[in-house]
Amino acid sequence: MGHHPILQLRLTIVQVFKFGGASLKDPAGIRNVASILERFKQESLVIVVSAMGKTTNALEEVVAEHMKQSGKAMTLFNAVKERHYAIMRELFDPGDEAFNLVNDTFVEAEWVLEEMPGNNYDYVYDQLVCAGELVSSKIVAAYLNNSGLPTQWLDARDVVITDETYREGWVIWEKTRANAQKLVQPMLDKGGFVLTQGFIGSTSENATTTLGREGSDYSAAIFSFCLDAGSMSIWKDVPGVLNADPRLFEHTVKLDRLSYREAIEMTYYGAQVIHPKTIKPLQNKSIPLFVKSFLDPEAPGTEISSDTEDTYPPIIVVEKNQSLLHIITNDYSFVAEQHMARLFAELAALRIFVNMMQNTAISFSICVPNVPERLEAFINGISDEFRVKREDGLELLTIRHYNEDTIANLKKGKIVLFEERIRNTLQMVVKNVPAVERRAVELERAKG
Ligand code: ADP
Ligand code: ASP
Ligand code: MG
Repeated sequence: MGHHPILQLRLTIVQVFKFGGASLKDPAGIRNVASILERFKQESLVIVVSAMGKTTNALEEVVAEHMKQSGKAMTLFNAVKERHYAIMRELFDPGDEAFNLVNDTFVEAEWVLEEMPGNNYDYVYDQLVCAGELVSSKIVAAYLNNSGLPTQWLDARDVVITDETYREGWVIWEKTRANAQKLVQPMLDKGGFVLTQGFIGSTSENATTTLGREGSDYSAAIFSFCLDAGSMSIWKDVPGVLNADPRLFEHTVKLDRLSYREAIEMTYYGAQVIHPKTIKPLQNKSIPLFVKSFLDPEAPGTEISSDTEDTYPPIIVVEKNQSLLHIITNDYSFVAEQHMARLFAELAALRIFVNMMQNTAISFSICVPNVPERLEAFINGISDEFRVKREDGLELLTIRHYNEDTIANLKKGKIVLFEERIRNTLQMVVKNVPAVERRAVELERAKG
């Protein structure tokens, strides 16, 4: 009979799965991930994993203490180690080889901690924080192998090459793609799963970089793009993409389908369910993205794919910790194009991301995330021409497909400082009405 060429082709289509910290936070989580993967035994799968639970936050504290040389870094690091070993003791026999593999990564991090840190915070950060993904991937790969799911471990740093922007590495696509084809494809051809880390990459000089917080979704998209995957799935603790963050809103609805366009708009404005850089590489190759629940793996989740004329319910995105900067020319000259050019050059150099802007004759206002060091550097840097009034502690609300009811609801208990409506999108910068004022408003109403 010979091989049927079409069947053969189907079998080699790669799928990429990503499991985040929430799915791997404890032994039960890891067992659950293995049971999900059991169903995909026959598939050509690349699995991308994050650090377990809140490990990255814990490692960030280790970095902070190490940079301060407070003497606390090693104690905090030992706690991270112990949490991993406690999980491992439930999953492995005492003599399992996995303990040595994990220990190797911890020892490398300890070498970094034993040295004086130098003053490149972001560089040191990447060399230490990568340990979270490295150990988590070693633990999950070993567990899958022990469970009868043959899995090859891959160091993502051998594939994902970035520039030297530590903590926010920019992917060098040609090199990354060449590495993926050269390394990953032959591993897949051997059969079994390939399992690697999200979030981390490497410079051409072999220094570890990271791709930005929550970057594992993006890593999975990088692998999907470079391997021409048939689909990508991210497994979350929610049933799919909802029309608002369920931690902040009560009556959310799941979106069964989303266009790439809608997904990119949502994530750009801070919907935390997917890292904002994830969509573009997938859209560029028309790779569908499934957002699925690891608690209910059979459920359909959300499919994000090519643009359609779907109608959507109001979709709400809340971004906290925003600042409003009112920038006014010192000499009362108009805020003209050359001023704008300078302001944006300074903002870009400091990597301050502008969420909203508006101008009048002599003032220009922007809403930006409050990263104090960067905002201070910006304000000082332009003080020769501009003075700046800064207001912190604000929220940016973005409503796609808004209606008047939703808007009125969202405004309750808030003071709106800044509002803009364009087709499909309404944005407002708000602050909470302080308690005293709110009581006054309520009294006013009671008198009513
Ligand atoms: P991971 O474990 O993959 O890192 P995250 O915690 O980063 O998962 O993302 C999932 C979380 O995103 C959910 O638990 C939910 O609280 C939050 N979230 C915020 N906005 C949304 C939204 N619009 N739809 C679904 N989840 C959302
Ligand atoms: N572990 C990293 C973080 O917590 C990356 C990720 O989880 O996506 O930011
Ligand atoms: Mg995450």
